[in-house]
Amino acid sequence: MGSSTTTRILVGMVAVLVVASEALGQSPAAAPRRSIELISGGVYTATNNNHRTVFVVTPEGIILGDPINADFSRWLKAELATRFKVPVEYVVYSHHHWDHASGGDVFADTARFVGHANMLSHLALPPASTTLSQIVGEFAEVAKLDANRNGVVERAEAPATVPFDAYDANRDGRLSGAEVMRGPVSFVRPPDITYKDTHQIRLGGKRVEVSWVGEMNHSLDSSYIAFPDDGVLFLVDFVSFRRLPNREMDYELGRFEQWMTAIRNAEKLAAGFRHVATGHGPVGTVKDITAWRVYFEKLRTAVAAGIARKQTLEQMQRDITMAEYSHWDGFDWVPLNVLGMYHFLTDSK
Ligand SMILES: [Zn+2]
Repeated sequence: MGSSTTTRILVGMVAVLVVASEALGQSPAAAPRRSIELISGGVYTATNNNHRTVFVVTPEGIILGDPINADFSRWLKAELATRFKVPVEYVVYSHHHWDHASGGDVFADTARFVGHANMLSHLALPPASTTLSQIVGEFAEVAKLDANRNGVVERAEAPATVPFDAYDANRDGRLSGAEVMRGPVSFVRPPDITYKDTHQIRLGGKRVEVSWVGEMNHSLDSSYIAFPDDGVLFLVDFVSFRRLPNREMDYELGRFEQWMTAIRNAEKLAAGFRHVATGHGPVGTVKDITAWRVYFEKLRTAVAAGIARKQTLEQMQRDITMAEYSHWDGFDWVPLNVLGMYHFLTDSK
């Protein structure tokens, strides 16, 4: 009894550490929470803390979705070898973002890498003339770390929470404007098979069908990833389940209406699938995509009404509570979501 109490306390402490470090957007110092579960037929889902991927197992090998990161990929590779005894033949990227697409090198001995053609331009370095002061949006916080104002962020200027090596494309220990603007994608292995509209992979009697989501706010290289033989659809970041959209919703990237179109298209596509998995949140169904769309519609209606009443942004952030979503992850992002929606509705297109 004493030892079980001790165990409970320890588990509780680990949980607190994980929550605290994830709130800061870091990889947790505690051991990551990982799992592998069957969804349907040959399709499984694997998680690393609050990131999710999917894979299908066939007699001829495995087709894996996002590799997430190198540590997770090493763990997953060993698990797959033990459980299924076939190699990963394909890695299929949802999009280029570092927190989903890193670590593919782990599978490079057996796999080919599939992604939308725009991944290559997202992964390319911007012009060398790019300055830190030009950087807006989620990487602006890194650009601001140049305390000695010499135009680059030295390693000593960056706290441990910044994935410095992932930004440092040329590994010279300094982050240029171009490296920060590109983002922390040094550990994203570029795809060697790219497609523009749709692409089908066949392996061991199973199909994986990827199709382009289109140009929208979250990225220009997102793919719908479908496992039609087992009724599973995989969507990452532009749709999440039981979780608010991230912070200010990258409003500086614009393309809000295109994002809504992508969500409605996901709903149409998902009507033909029994299961929908997303990069964040529990495995669900098309109904969860609808709930995600309705969240945006309610938020847009509320912010538009505030604008029409000539409320200030601060008044809207106080009055718009979205209280019925208090059970969703990231509920404390409501004021930031309001900020993002305010920009979507008022920034010049
Ligand atoms: Zn993303």
